[in-house]
Amino acid sequence: MTKHVAIIGAGVVGASAAFELSKDPSIKLTIYDEGTGQGTYAAAGIISPWLSRRRNKKWYRMVKEGAAFYPGFLCDVMGGDAVSPFVYRNVGTLLIKKKPEYLREMLAIGEKRRLDAPEIGDLKILSSEEIRNKIPVYEGSDSALWASGGARVDGGKLVDLLLHTAVENGATLIRKRAELAQTGDKYTIRADESDQLFDSVVLSSAAWLPMLLEPLNYEVDIRPQKGQLAVLELTDFETGSWPVVMPQGEADIIPFEQGRVVIGATHENDQGFDLSIDESKVRTLIDETAGSFSQQLSQAKVSNYRSGTRAYTSDYAPFFGEVPGLPHAYAASGLGSTGLTAGPLVGKCLAQLVQGIPPELPVEDYPIGQYVKKRDR
Ligand SMILES: Cc1cc2nc3c(=O)[nH]c(=O)nc-3n(C[C@H](O)[C@H](O)[C@H](O)COP(=O)(O)OP(=O)(O)OC[C@H]3O[C@@H](n4cnc5c(N)ncnc54)[C@H](O)[C@@H]3O)c2cc1C
Repeated sequence: MTKHVAIIGAGVVGASAAFELSKDPSIKLTIYDEGTGQGTYAAAGIISPWLSRRRNKKWYRMVKEGAAFYPGFLCDVMGGDAVSPFVYRNVGTLLIKKKPEYLREMLAIGEKRRLDAPEIGDLKILSSEEIRNKIPVYEGSDSALWASGGARVDGGKLVDLLLHTAVENGATLIRKRAELAQTGDKYTIRADESDQLFDSVVLSSAAWLPMLLEPLNYEVDIRPQKGQLAVLELTDFETGSWPVVMPQGEADIIPFEQGRVVIGATHENDQGFDLSIDESKVRTLIDETAGSFSQQLSQAKVSNYRSGTRAYTSDYAPFFGEVPGLPHAYAASGLGSTGLTAGPLVGKCLAQLVQGIPPELPVEDYPIGQYVKKRDR
């Protein structure tokens, strides 16, 4: 019997779930996306979770396995062909630090982590001259830790690819805001005055999960965080093979193809869902991040700005699973600043839950019941 499944929210999580579910001939899939304020379209694009000092082991497992999942997942999406470097490319990561002892400490952490994360690749401390061999515009004198397994992804292009493939596989994409209601043991979704009935729903609406579940009387521990970044143009350089740079400070440098270099992002906890661009704030970020790295980069023309919303729980831990009290409704959120890294794997886990398959990540380690609660009244 055909199962009617809906996905609400098509950022990287929902679009990845959509790709997985669209391959299942027993499922008729409808995807709803309102298309505003996506975290994914704004994201900087770093896939390099290993050189973090964050101690949450369950989070680390999710992002480590998320990074390892990417190449095989993209191969599956491309039907065995290579993915375009405009979408994803393994370019390596450079972690720049002023103090050599800090780099040696991070090298030791990386080598330990490589035992169960071989995808981190080669690890080596590079001199400033060796950094210049990889990025000719580097003017600093600091050294860096090199991890050859780092990658970068264009979140918007990835989502477009996943949705295009899901639609080719037979899914329906509705670019509207959806409202959710329970109807007996099924779910009604209303979009643009039209109602449809579903057996199972995936709620991948990230920072907007509280609004989606509010009419069903749920309280959701999720808050929005605004992030802004700039895309610079270094048109005289072929930047496609340059590694991702994580300098000291709040922001990173992420080179893409054809001279496009992203610098970002801000982490603003007091702006709610506002998406307006504050050019002076981004200018400060560029000066602080690129100023000591390369004058050429910090003076490059800004081709555009992006702004998006990250979703955080109060203890910064991500969650996914079946919504307590809503059978066959599955949600994920709280992926914070590493959701582009974890997103495809989390999307696959949501798809597996819909299909009744044990998910690749242990669902009990990311307990949704701690963050999504039905109110008493
Ligand atoms: C500036 C910035 C930089 C970042 N950089 C990185 C990075 O370098 N590396 C990394 O790993 N992560 C990064 N992140 C984090 C990452 O982008 C997010 O964690 C991730 O994209 C979240 O994906 P998602 O699918 O859960 O949510 P989103 O991408 O936010 O998608 C949710 C979607 O649901 C839709 N929606 C919500 N409610 C409804 C409704 N009722 N009906 C229909 N549609 C609805 C929204 O419109 C949206 O399109 C960054 C985030 C930001 C903002």
